[in-house]
Amino acid sequence: MHGTELNSLSLDELQQFMEEIGEERYRAEQLFTYLHRNRGMTIDGISVFSTGLKDKLKQVSRINNIEIYERLISDLDGTRKYLFTLEDDNIIEGVLMEYRHGLTACISTQVGCRMGCVFCASSKDGLARNLSPAEIANQIYIMENDVDRSITNIVLMGSGEPLDNYDNTLKFLYIIHDEKGHNISYRNITLSTCGIVPNIYKLADEGLPITLSISLHTPFDEDRKKIMPIGHRYTIDDIIKACKYYINQTNRRVTMEYILIGGVNDRVEDQNKLIQILQGMECHVNLIPLNPIEEFDQRKPTLESIYRFQNRLSKANIPTTIRKEMGGDISAACGQLRRRYIYDKYERTLR
Ligand code: SAH
Repeated sequence: MHGTELNSLSLDELQQFMEEIGEERYRAEQLFTYLHRNRGMTIDGISVFSTGLKDKLKQVSRINNIEIYERLISDLDGTRKYLFTLEDDNIIEGVLMEYRHGLTACISTQVGCRMGCVFCASSKDGLARNLSPAEIANQIYIMENDVDRSITNIVLMGSGEPLDNYDNTLKFLYIIHDEKGHNISYRNITLSTCGIVPNIYKLADEGLPITLSISLHTPFDEDRKKIMPIGHRYTIDDIIKACKYYINQTNRRVTMEYILIGGVNDRVEDQNKLIQILQGMECHVNLIPLNPIEEFDQRKPTLESIYRFQNRLSKANIPTTIRKEMGGDISAACGQLRRRYIYDKYERTLR
């Protein structure tokens, strides 16, 4: 693929690009609005540009497109799970959920992931490649086109580790927030990370009031190393320090995600230690019942143990919510849909 990917450029960069090809700066704004407000996907579709300008653009640039490969709709709550095909035939997934406060999209930042968390399906085939800013944004636009509604909340919790694709993720955030484009508030965006500490500091210094969500999953370093290889690089103490810095810089509360794995990290000593490390920090704990995958077929926690965990934290004044399972009937934990697709395709080739 050659030529500049127009929908991966921030408005500033687009202005620079227009100047470089000898066009007026205001053209950049028109183009940016076409791409990110009107969700335009072809150079020919830019009706305010002359044929001459469109031809010139086609010679030096292109617009990235992604397509819906498959869509599953839940009979229970209308949740939609999508598989998208990228221009190079890679596959990623996204989910669209209806909450009281609006329409939330869960999107991917990488094809696969190299973090290797044992419980997560996205990690199982490693990382194929990073997504470009346009490929991240296009997931939003395609879903909006599909339901003919506007998405109000974005969570970067699909496949991939956003802080392992730092530059493109950040560019995406600037683009999707820009008032000349989609104009979504930073407060309505959540970035979830397994804890790449130096990039948490970097993100904090950007000063964007997005919600940072940490996949903590256990308060003990030794246990964390067993389920999350990143635990060998950074300790929980490193993460907590980085979170405190983030809270200071952005004035935002951090969310701690905690997958409850029956009999593994839902013990009383886990509760005690978790309370100890989170004490006095502006945070919120989100308990996630494990969605077992083939390669990590551990127990889901019992409802009773989930509530016990929540009560204990709440009593210690740590706000705690339980993640509601959405689309239970089309259930596919992070990355499972995509893997199923890859293996189906593989089997078809063998046949
Ligand atoms: N790499 C980022 C974002 C993608 S994962 C991160 O680690 O946060 C998004 C969330 O889904 C994480 O909290 C992750 O731990 C969780 N998750 C992954 N596999 C899961 C499973 N099988 N059951 C429940 N939650 C899972």
